[in-house]
Amino acid sequence: MKFNNAHMKFCGACILISFATTCLISILLTASPESCDCSSSPRTAQQIHLDKNDVSNSNANKPKLAILVPFRDRFDELLQFAPHMTAFLNQQSIPHHIFVLNQVDRYRFNRASLINVGFVYTKNDHDYIAMHDVDLLPLNNQLHYEYPKDGPFHVAAPDLHPKYHYNTFVGGILLVKREHFELMNGMSNRYWGWGLEDDEFYVRIKDAKLPVVRPINITTGINNTFAHIHDRAHRKRDTAKCFNQREVTRKRDRETGLSSLNYRISSINKLRIDDVVNVTIVNIQLICNHQETPWCDCSNEKKL
Ligand code: UDP
Ligand code: MN
Repeated sequence: MKFNNAHMKFCGACILISFATTCLISILLTASPESCDCSSSPRTAQQIHLDKNDVSNSNANKPKLAILVPFRDRFDELLQFAPHMTAFLNQQSIPHHIFVLNQVDRYRFNRASLINVGFVYTKNDHDYIAMHDVDLLPLNNQLHYEYPKDGPFHVAAPDLHPKYHYNTFVGGILLVKREHFELMNGMSNRYWGWGLEDDEFYVRIKDAKLPVVRPINITTGINNTFAHIHDRAHRKRDTAKCFNQREVTRKRDRETGLSSLNYRISSINKLRIDDVVNVTIVNIQLICNHQETPWCDCSNEKKL
């Protein structure tokens, strides 16, 4: 068939029309608000894991973990900690809930007593606890938070923790199953102010003839296994020693623990961060026996 002028014009018109239509469609797609991905950055693995529930159905028969976070005046850290831990534990399919143990009395900070209170508060619906500093974020997914059936599992092991490297160290992050924590009568209530309560707990573990189990085959080291979001200048450690604190807190405490806890829960708050992270805040008023532990308040005593 002869390709005449009329054919040429018809083809040209067709090409022009399809080009114009394509252009129009792409302009409409770019401009349309429905097609806009309004979050400016791509979704991260963390965001995707946050979308799962704390406890998904397939996890129904797994042991439940209570994350116990001793806490006072660390809100900035909590806003990083809670979303990070939720994503981290969802990725491992660990059914868990975060409990912030907020010390609201005016005594010195007592990390161990707060953990004891958190344990009593959560033990009926949880099988194990993580004593968890709010400023220590696990970065390596090889760190497992599974049920510690054989003995306390020290996640923040001395060869991984950025700051503490002695081999009896059990602070930072420690998982303990309910029966073991009860067997040891929990932690000592004598430690007001910073330090040594974790070392005393190590002796309880040994006296109970339990092993301290630690992570193995971790490919990261002291610099990149955890983020320690602790600004030393801004978050000062309360290292004061007053009355006979130094002498008493050097010794193993065979008297105090879960059996001698004295406190009131003044209120409970539910906190939701970024729509998907749920945290329970337990506001705790510890009660100090000034005869037994006068160092719960050093303000009127010359610091030794
Ligand atoms: N903490 C707190 N407020 C305080 C002191 C301590 O919330 O005023 C909690 C917090 O969870 C923190 C943990 O206790 O991570 C351990 O204290 P710190 O970080 O001072 O000890 P470190 O391990 O850094 O020596
Ligand atoms: Mn710290």
